[in-house]
Amino acid sequence: MPATNKPIYLSLAEMGGKEQEFIQEAFDTNWVVPLGPNVDGFEEELKEYLRGDKEVVALISGTAALHLALLQLGIEAGDEVFCQSFTFAASANPIKYLGAEPVFIGSEPSTWNMDPIYLARALEDRLRNSAKKPKAIIVVHLYGMPARMGELRAIADQYDIPLIEDAAEALGSSLESKLCGNWGDFGILSFNGNKIITTSGGGALLCPDKATAATTKFYATQARDDAPHYQHSKIGYNYRLSNICAGIGRGQLMALDRFIARRREINSLYRTMLADVEGISFQTEPDTNFFSNYWLTTIIIEPSITGFTREDLRQVMLANNIETRPLWKPMHLQPVFADTLYYGSGVEEELFEKGLCLPSGAGLTNDDIQRIASIIKHTHP
Ligand SMILES: *Cc1c(COP(=O)(O)O)cnc(C)c1O
Repeated sequence: MPATNKPIYLSLAEMGGKEQEFIQEAFDTNWVVPLGPNVDGFEEELKEYLRGDKEVVALISGTAALHLALLQLGIEAGDEVFCQSFTFAASANPIKYLGAEPVFIGSEPSTWNMDPIYLARALEDRLRNSAKKPKAIIVVHLYGMPARMGELRAIADQYDIPLIEDAAEALGSSLESKLCGNWGDFGILSFNGNKIITTSGGGALLCPDKATAATTKFYATQARDDAPHYQHSKIGYNYRLSNICAGIGRGQLMALDRFIARRREINSLYRTMLADVEGISFQTEPDTNFFSNYWLTTIIIEPSITGFTREDLRQVMLANNIETRPLWKPMHLQPVFADTLYYGSGVEEELFEKGLCLPSGAGLTNDDIQRIASIIKHTHP
């Protein structure tokens, strides 16, 4: 084991190199205000990166983006919105902001994302037993792994229900060569501190057309009517990304492909180094149609084979100054959603029980990965 105790974090942001130039330019031109050329530039460059399928609106967070997607789909108090259970709380919370009720859908074991079988079952059941048709479906690409969008999209279309893609963790991931964020009616991205690119805090709503993008901007800037004075006919929000943060985003975006290449390389290093450890498996692209940015490398620990649990390993890592994290706790197991409907087979419950996220930041060295792998090997009895 290398003789070092240097702290290693789960997912540190890396700078691309050009961030400060964009920020400096904003200062030099006195654009230290919300909006400005970096916001327009960042949106244009994101749109280009996503190959132009969607109109992009930069916002203060992925959560705000989800909120504005649901708002524009007409979600109101008492409505039902389907949401993947295996996710971060930010996927589900905006449903509650609007007074609507989430219905949680379980995952399937190959991608860890929404199971088309349970989506179909839940829809049949709700259409039989509820007065209202579900108003939207939120699918998540967890840890960068694309969900089975073809099948999910077909079911959503069959029932004519809009699909929102939570691609907060999946910028640069693709399915059948189509980038995540382009499969849904709306898509959301996050540029929070530990995501694959960061603006220190930020997000984007990927909109189906220019009119929807304009409406998104309207709601994100306090819903001001077209009048010389301040007049309002709708309730608005203060959700726009600042020109400074967008400058960071422009520099980050320039380095995105490099970050993805490195995260995928780290994923592959872990696989090679842990190949002979029995009882450890990885979240893995099911076939060559799937391309994950491998935002985080995640492992499943089978305690009956390894002789240690994921919590044992997390503690050992902590003692070695290495940050790891259990997988997301499913939403239907969260105290705040205790009385919420759930349709699934418990796949995500087991993943939560046995899964651990390993340090995956693009700035990690091969020696860092070696150190982590060797600790896992030594924990192995
Ligand atoms: C990070 C994240 C969000 C929220 O994005 P913020 O920018 O932090 O608001 C939503 N969904 C998932 C799956 C995430 O990982």
